[in-house]
Amino acid sequence: MPDRALSVDMSVTQQATLQSLLKGEAPIQAPAWLAQQCAMDHPAETAKAEADLDGFWAEKAEALDWDAKWTSVLRFEPPNHAWFEGGRLNATVNCIDRHVHSDRRNKAALIWVGEDGEERTYTYNRLYREMNRFANVLKRMGVETGDRVVIYMPLVPEGVITMLACARIGAIHSVVYAGMGTNSLKARIEDAGAKVVVCSDFVFRRGKKVPLKPTVDEAVRDLSFVDHVIVHRRGSRPGDEEYRFESEREHDFYDIQQPRDIHCDPVSVDAEHPLFILYTSGTTGKPKGVVHATGGYLVGVNYLATAFFQIQERDIYWSTSDIGWIVGHSFIVYGPLSIGATVLIREGAPDYPGPEVAWELAERFGVNVMFTAPTALRMWMSHGSEAPSRFDLSRLRLLACAGEPLNPEAHRWAQQVLVSQGNGMVVDNWWQTEIAGPVLGTLPTFEARPGRVGKPMPGVHAAVVDRTGQPVPDGQGGLLVLTQPLPHMLRTVWNDPARYEAYWEDIPGCYCAGDVAVKDADGYYAVLGRSDDVLNVAGHRIGTADVESSLLRHPAVAESAVVGLPDPIKGESIKAFVVLRPGTPHGPGLLASLRDHVREDLGPIATPADIEIRDSLPKTRSGKIVRRYLKAQALGLDPGDLSTLAD
Ligand code: AMP
Repeated sequence: MPDRALSVDMSVTQQATLQSLLKGEAPIQAPAWLAQQCAMDHPAETAKAEADLDGFWAEKAEALDWDAKWTSVLRFEPPNHAWFEGGRLNATVNCIDRHVHSDRRNKAALIWVGEDGEERTYTYNRLYREMNRFANVLKRMGVETGDRVVIYMPLVPEGVITMLACARIGAIHSVVYAGMGTNSLKARIEDAGAKVVVCSDFVFRRGKKVPLKPTVDEAVRDLSFVDHVIVHRRGSRPGDEEYRFESEREHDFYDIQQPRDIHCDPVSVDAEHPLFILYTSGTTGKPKGVVHATGGYLVGVNYLATAFFQIQERDIYWSTSDIGWIVGHSFIVYGPLSIGATVLIREGAPDYPGPEVAWELAERFGVNVMFTAPTALRMWMSHGSEAPSRFDLSRLRLLACAGEPLNPEAHRWAQQVLVSQGNGMVVDNWWQTEIAGPVLGTLPTFEARPGRVGKPMPGVHAAVVDRTGQPVPDGQGGLLVLTQPLPHMLRTVWNDPARYEAYWEDIPGCYCAGDVAVKDADGYYAVLGRSDDVLNVAGHRIGTADVESSLLRHPAVAESAVVGLPDPIKGESIKAFVVLRPGTPHGPGLLASLRDHVREDLGPIATPADIEIRDSLPKTRSGKIVRRYLKAQALGLDPGDLSTLAD
């Protein structure tokens, strides 16, 4: 089965977005003072990259500490690309050691605020000790360079420390978002072949202690290759029922550390050695392990932390994302720490206990640069402008938004309400788990055009093409492709090279992002949504196939189809259609039981908002479910050409 069936035929919602874009939105002028201090000279850097792409990236790579210098910058034999071959380095030397040996030694690296109000600050020096102590634990447990460690933890410092500890010894971490259900977690541990799983016992969510450990217990029960499960006690105390361990392979995160074990020699790895695997949704229902390579990835995120996010030495930078997503990897951990920044992170929902929690935090810490998702902006916007206006947000000069289309209304609101006190700017940026950092975006040196992401960053060769790979005229929708690789792009899909090759096969010689986009005559891109069966719910990518197969695992379900419907806050919401097995009674508890089943299986983010029971599903003569038809029907729109339907 092909991984995805790309279509340049825009969905009804994408067409509507394009129509409203074409009407034009008034641009937002960047403030002159912000433009003046912009860390990137976009035209000059673009010209430099065009004249000598290798030279451009070699210059960026010079910003890192290498144990051995590379012999070649890029070897590109589509679909494969290797960067900085011959080079050797360790990611944590670049994120921690170099600062510990400088005036930043006692600078705050990480400020953490728990949902329950607990606060902890980690200087670079403290992070060095904690990372090494845990790296030594992993070594004692037999973890070697190249081994995989799965991390299933909420946004707690121990999660960041575990990621760094893995990188210290060249182990490959794979963080699984702590909202994922048993089946999703198990599939990822299995695919990665993880020797060790590091988890928390609980996560705090909206004031409730949600247990994580039972999910882990269930996921690893039959996986004999998992040698150790290390549990960070976030919510249980000695004497609690949950404090007890189930088996000998379980250990306490802190008890197994040796207090004085604060040095651990960094393992120098090849530039192409995988730093991490991060699973994302494709269209087949099998998770896709995106592999990023140490050297190129670090070069990219180190460069972009300053050049795109404009993080300066004295700034407080706050990302509302989570280590379970690519933003958390690139712009909570590796990018900002590699430049010696101070990163603020907060556990919990951005509107709990109330929507003002974000602005109280921004005021108290004097946040200068913030990263969030459009879905969070829309949520704050729905609560009105009064809450943010009560707080001093005058230090906030840059608000970067990514993960899904930023609708003009939310963009304008954030510009007027959130960054106006400091005469700052909202900047949209487009990227993916596979690309690890902004490649299209808006900078303070040019105007923002709401509804459009912005322009290609220097060194990025983007295009909008038709199915044959021919560029489409400006103003017309097509597939978004990159015609050149980037150092911070995925190298392969773990255990599945054919699936990696598919990214480069749809449009031969190009990386096809799977998104529909449109470019205007001034080179601004708008990304209208996916061109495959992948949904974007609250900025999280969910394959329709994941939800459909989960529903099929419920004993009452014979057939299922899933579509995304527009949602004012989350961007898209999941609607499922199911056909019941013959003889299954459609009792009152059935819909709740189906929803609970998916929640348990995949996690809350993949739970359908609405489930409709049908007698049959529309199919082509070859038996493929026509989701386009279901979606149009659900929206009360014209379903278009129905000649391919069987019935
Ligand atoms: P993920 O890999 O989960 O971060 O999801 C990446 C997908 O999110 C992309 O392929 C796009 O469909 C969407 N996306 C990310 N950033 C933007 C943006 N700024 N504008 C529009 N869509 C975006």
